[in-house]
Amino acid sequence: MVMSFQFPAYFTAIFIITRVMSIMKISKPLDVHHKDIRAVDLATKLSVDPSAIESASRDFGGIVKAEPEAVLHPSAPQDIAALIKFSYSNSVPFGIAAKGHGHSVRGQAMAENGVVVDMRSMANNRRNGTGIRISIDRLYADVGGEQLWIDVLNATLEYGLAPVSWTDYLYLTVGGTLSNAGISGQTFRYGPQISNVLEMDVITGKADFLTCSPRMNSELFYAVLGGLGQFGIITRARIPLQPAPKGVKWVRLLYDDFSSFAKDQELLISKNGRKDKSALDYLEGSLLMDQGSPDNWRSSFFPHKDHPRIISLITKHGIIYCLEIVKHYDDRTKHTVDKEMKQVLQGLNYMPGFMFGKDVGYEEFLNRVRSGELKLKSQGLWDVPHPWLNLFIPKSQISDFNNGVFRGIVLERNITTGPVLVYPMNRQKWDDRMSAVIPDEEIFYTVGFLHSSGFDTWEAFEDQNKDIMRFCNKTGILVKQYLPHYSTKEEWVHHFGSKWKVFQHRKYQFDPRMLLSPGQRIFNNN
Ligand code: FAD
Repeated sequence: MVMSFQFPAYFTAIFIITRVMSIMKISKPLDVHHKDIRAVDLATKLSVDPSAIESASRDFGGIVKAEPEAVLHPSAPQDIAALIKFSYSNSVPFGIAAKGHGHSVRGQAMAENGVVVDMRSMANNRRNGTGIRISIDRLYADVGGEQLWIDVLNATLEYGLAPVSWTDYLYLTVGGTLSNAGISGQTFRYGPQISNVLEMDVITGKADFLTCSPRMNSELFYAVLGGLGQFGIITRARIPLQPAPKGVKWVRLLYDDFSSFAKDQELLISKNGRKDKSALDYLEGSLLMDQGSPDNWRSSFFPHKDHPRIISLITKHGIIYCLEIVKHYDDRTKHTVDKEMKQVLQGLNYMPGFMFGKDVGYEEFLNRVRSGELKLKSQGLWDVPHPWLNLFIPKSQISDFNNGVFRGIVLERNITTGPVLVYPMNRQKWDDRMSAVIPDEEIFYTVGFLHSSGFDTWEAFEDQNKDIMRFCNKTGILVKQYLPHYSTKEEWVHHFGSKWKVFQHRKYQFDPRMLLSPGQRIFNNN
């Protein structure tokens, strides 16, 4: 079959792919005479435009920069499969990274000298993209890997439905969070987002386009969930849905004492049955530390009139612990939810007079971080370096962590001003067959230092992060990084621990030429 191209498009295609191939030193020449249709088609979607390269070289972290040779703007999963096939079958393969929304902080979605796949191009091209399709009868949504969770929320709410497990911030892609875990205040009860996937379509590093689930290609299914993009590119995920609540009762409680705070958190997450009506719907915790406003970009919550007394508490104690809980309600339960919340609060040991409540719509609650983002953007403070550190810590060592890190390193250094999250979750809600790595204990905490810094001050935060990791190593705190980043193979082997052999085996099985997500620097860190 001979394809007829309009001259300029055909010429541009040949030019781009030839250029990409020569830059990458790809040996197989493009067979123009035989009209290698797929390759030419692919070339029309590859860009070497400086602005596309620049944008693919950066991420939310603003610390790492790595330039790809080209950016693929796929309009359908077949374009991604063609690109992977092209690299896989070449004598000198090149790295390929799916970039969701680029909200990694350490270059995880970059591909130095390779090709970045701009997944969001498929969202822009709804005709060919996988989009969001909802099955009302069977209570699930088929969602393209390129879709943002905010769009999933809006689409499902139109039918009065919603997924059950979220991240705090919704402008992240489905493929991006499923490659990590996707955690938030619902995790203690429903598990992370990776525990809430029924099946997926995945293009492996061998360009096989497979549907996988716990019953079909299950090894691939479990590999990809929490798999840091190492085994395949997720083009569709089937997410279970439930009837969406109407609104939420949202409460924050302040503590000056860590052990009461942790004890109350652990008590509250012990009620965690999916169908248990008395269980909370959301639980998180954070530190209040800086002397400025008790609010931060993640949410503004406390009434202005209470700011002075909260600030004076912080000044007195150095750190105040804030427990945050939510109970959903719908038309049926809106008259009883206050009573239920009262029952939840009974017997908790927060500081008398330091309970604050709000009643907001469900969507407003889930999308609570957005207004802070827009405010920071308007002040030019969103696109700054983010030297974040996210950790999982076993329950038995969280008190040592509080003493040594929060009350030690963090207070001594006195540079932390942004959000610091600390809340527990239940291991039983995770599935150990998946690639995500968590501590061994039944209850473990997540701690997130979500620093924003100046362009010339991020190294001070990085030093603090290193200090924290050194402290944990020295004192034997069995910490695991969430959204991990390491620079040596030994560190990765240590991170995965008993899961390393399986992780490595799966890599050989699904991506033997080590093409995918090279920015994670797990198999290409030399
Ligand atoms: P990217 O950064 O684009 O990609 C991340 C990794 O996944 C890369 O290795 C990439 O190659 C790979 N990847 C991307 N798409 C695919 C795909 N379709 N198939 C296979 N691999 C793919 N995380 C939480 O768990 N909970 C939170 O509450 C939370 N809040 C956040 C708030 C903010 C403001 C930010 C910036 C991040 C937050 N994160 C949170 C972290 C976030 O979940 C991860 O950084 C996630 O990877 C970002 O999604 P993304 O779409 O930007 O992915």
